[in-house]
Amino acid sequence: MDKIVSLAKRRGFIFPGSEIYGGFANSWDYGPLGVELKNNIKNEWWKMFVHQRTDVVGVDTSLIMNPKVWEASGHLKEFSDPLTECKECHHRFRAEGETKQIFCPSCGSKNLTEATQFNLMFKTFIGPAEDKANIAYFRPETAQGQFVDFKNILDSSHRKLPFGIAQMGKAFRNEITPGNYIFRTREFEQMEIEYFIPAPKKDKEWEEYFDMWLDEMKRWLKHLGINSKHLHFHDIPDGERAHYSKRTVDIEYDYPFGQKELYGLAYRTDFDLKNHMTKSGQDLQYTDPETNEKYLPHVIEPTWGVDRSLLVAMLDAYHEEDAPTAKEGEKEARVVMKFPKWLAPVKVAVLPLSKKEELSKVAKKLYKNLAEDFICEYDETQSIGKRYRRQDEIGTPYCVTVDFESLEDKAVTVRDRDTMKQDRIKIEELADYLKENLKN
Ligand code: ATP
Repeated sequence: MDKIVSLAKRRGFIFPGSEIYGGFANSWDYGPLGVELKNNIKNEWWKMFVHQRTDVVGVDTSLIMNPKVWEASGHLKEFSDPLTECKECHHRFRAEGETKQIFCPSCGSKNLTEATQFNLMFKTFIGPAEDKANIAYFRPETAQGQFVDFKNILDSSHRKLPFGIAQMGKAFRNEITPGNYIFRTREFEQMEIEYFIPAPKKDKEWEEYFDMWLDEMKRWLKHLGINSKHLHFHDIPDGERAHYSKRTVDIEYDYPFGQKELYGLAYRTDFDLKNHMTKSGQDLQYTDPETNEKYLPHVIEPTWGVDRSLLVAMLDAYHEEDAPTAKEGEKEARVVMKFPKWLAPVKVAVLPLSKKEELSKVAKKLYKNLAEDFICEYDETQSIGKRYRRQDEIGTPYCVTVDFESLEDKAVTVRDRDTMKQDRIKIEELADYLKENLKN
């Protein structure tokens, strides 16, 4: 983990938030490469689950909604974690795990208060008066937006069940014990789908949809480059599930700090629509176009954390290996981020072998052309070996070297990140070559 944290800071993936003021309670900022990585994750997810499916549409709803939404969803009453306080050092922390924590993580004392429930909703005030009537909350999940807009989507798009509504964006939770880097923060991003299905007439009729989404989540994880050996599928037993769920599978990952949740899949029944219908007084029922039957659809909800996706993608991509140097038979260690090519923050690096104008002129022109199709970097500092290492460390799939021969043969050397194999490619064929090779 330390290696990832230090690489991420050194190379501009992730910085501690508000660092010049000594940081700010486990907040993190995404730097130039981190934001590319994060955008790649979000765009690919949207492509896979919204654009490439005929049964899912997207929304982008408000972060701060009418507080009645959170009353109806049960969050104001139920969305809490057990909070314990150490009687010796007064450190407050979340009582975690099956047996609950029995000692203080700060001083080790076992002299603790009984756990009480602490609500995780982030409060704020709307307008200039800070009184009770103006309290509002930042959303703790993206999900309720999909339920609140359900009727509008039905009316405007005439969808037939089953269909899903997807949303990605920020969520806020006043976590008692944030930590483990970007694993648990108070401000994070989620990608969630509320998949509406016909109300089951028989027991278990929802299961085929649940299984379909579990398969889809596995497909995504493979695409993200995650080794299945690092994953665990944990069916949450009765009594431990969230207040709205009839079945939940937590997808867990072997982080360096232990096996913990990565994503979740829940069968939310008609809990949310029913409560919003009661609370808002609006008819949120669906009318079956064939039978004219009216009912509340049920919901399967697959949910993905963006930041945890990025963390596991970095952990699984990190490799240390031996690489040959310019000297025959000599090797040196290299760190290489073996991101799937679609995920790599930079796709191509253009590296002129010398800073001499005749070369840099050709290399800069090449860079300008390539940058129309790919995210590129231009680097002319230090030795070529060091520049290759730098690109390996950020996971750039292809390095293009422009040398003096290029001026004669109008070709460049293309080096593959994983095999380190080098191909000589004609400049006019380069864009097609890269397009083809970046596909897989
Ligand atoms: P945990 O048990 O780790 O607190 P949760 O069960 O409360 O998670 P969900 O409510 O199911 O989490 O949220 C859906 C997803 O959002 C999680 O699977 C995770 O990827 C992400 N997530 C939840 N809380 C946080 C957080 N504090 N920081 C970063 N990501 C989070």
